[in-house]
Amino acid sequence: MIAESGRSARSFAVAGLLHETNTFAPFATEIDAFSAERIRGAEAFVARYEGTRTSMGGAIAAAKKLGVELKPGVYAAATPSGTLADAAAEELMAEVVASVSSESAGLLLIVHGAMVAASYPDLEGELLRRLRAKLGPGFPIVATIDLHGNVSADMAELADVIVGYDTYPHVDMFERAEEAFELLVGCAAGRIRPARALAHTNMLVVPQGMMTEQGAMKELMERAFAMERTAGVLNVTVAGGFPYSDVADAGMSFIVTTDGDEALASRLAKELCLMAIGFKERFGISALSPRDAIAAALAAPEGPIVLVEGSDNVGGGAPADATHTLACLTNLPKRALAVICDEAAVKAAMLAGIGGTFRGPVGGRHDELHGLPVELEGRVRLVSDGEYRHVGPYMTGQLAFMGLTAVVQCGNLTLVLTERRVPPWDLGHVRSLGLWPADYDIILAKSAIAWQTAFGPFAKGVVHVDSPGCCSANLAHFRYASVTRPIYPLDEGEPRLRLSVFTSAFKLDR
Ligand SMILES: [Zn+2]
Repeated sequence: MIAESGRSARSFAVAGLLHETNTFAPFATEIDAFSAERIRGAEAFVARYEGTRTSMGGAIAAAKKLGVELKPGVYAAATPSGTLADAAAEELMAEVVASVSSESAGLLLIVHGAMVAASYPDLEGELLRRLRAKLGPGFPIVATIDLHGNVSADMAELADVIVGYDTYPHVDMFERAEEAFELLVGCAAGRIRPARALAHTNMLVVPQGMMTEQGAMKELMERAFAMERTAGVLNVTVAGGFPYSDVADAGMSFIVTTDGDEALASRLAKELCLMAIGFKERFGISALSPRDAIAAALAAPEGPIVLVEGSDNVGGGAPADATHTLACLTNLPKRALAVICDEAAVKAAMLAGIGGTFRGPVGGRHDELHGLPVELEGRVRLVSDGEYRHVGPYMTGQLAFMGLTAVVQCGNLTLVLTERRVPPWDLGHVRSLGLWPADYDIILAKSAIAWQTAFGPFAKGVVHVDSPGCCSANLAHFRYASVTRPIYPLDEGEPRLRLSVFTSAFKLDR
């Protein structure tokens, strides 16, 4: 053991701050966005996450398995949305930093990697800088990140190891946190000294191109897994990046961590980076206009057909009230299901009451990009508090809060109106309201890929919809100001890789 004076060799801290920030979203993110998941103190952390298939659940399980004490600090998370207000960023970072004790033997930090505040384009880098300042240079810090993290050189330098999810949809958060925790304990015990290379592709890849079970991403993951079986390699992380954060480090990158071998880390990270650049044309998708997409769904011999409206991807920070496709779902000859976030419409439905008639505008509350409100009329079938627990496989056991929720039947369209934005990542999203996907011919999913963990097993077909919105798969729609140019696909020419290499300053004891 190399625990320095005052540190408890058997006690490890866990804390986190998680938000995927869409800098193109038409609304800022304030502190209240974190109100549903701002967990303070060890008891609250364990009560909330023990047994859940989340990063936090993984940390709890790993500490138990390894026989070490876990000291949970603050964990705060919010549904993806627009740029975080500075005051909120300061408050949250201060709270997280204050909750981690330098007496612990190490810290597992749970972050996204694409969190942006007005004055902190690399918020995770800033959080790590503050943690380092408090905890010191030799203090082991291992960070878990989302597969959509935009990884900066600062993050790779300030965290001893970065472990990203290997799946999209992200069904391995628990396992990656366990892996990260084991590496953390290895660092604290002096068994390993991480050297890591971050290779950035200078490519923006849309989420639809990142599904890990198919195509180019699958090939990259398979090569990464093979690298992880190489002697001396501790972790290989494929970070697809988040193209809707307009920041200097936006884009796909690779982090290879080895046990003290910078040359090996660099060689492998470069190899993955060049492989991805070679695949650049394979990350796109084909999509239809809302009318054509609905026509294709209506023509299908059996349903449900999932209409994927990626431009209004709730899990990518979009408003969840875009109406381009909704407007075309009325008066269809087949049954359709759509979930729209609209606080005013929910209240109107509640005033009408169960069995009453709802009449009024729905959606389109933010800006014209996401469409204008659609006038709808229907019978209120159900109202609910909108709470459910994930049935899985995505974050199984995690609580979700849609806020006040109403189900309104408008002809063949079953419309779910929610007070809060909740991504359709889990079947509980509709099952908690007595709705069953197989009863529909068309399901509108405000998601890019992660809807599959909810509706995938029911889908008889998938049609991607090309509509305007802050998560559009067509990046030519956006005006970028901060990404590092030249960058693919915005600029001509071959993407050029950027490489950064670091080694932790631990003493070894092996
Ligand atoms: Zn993600």
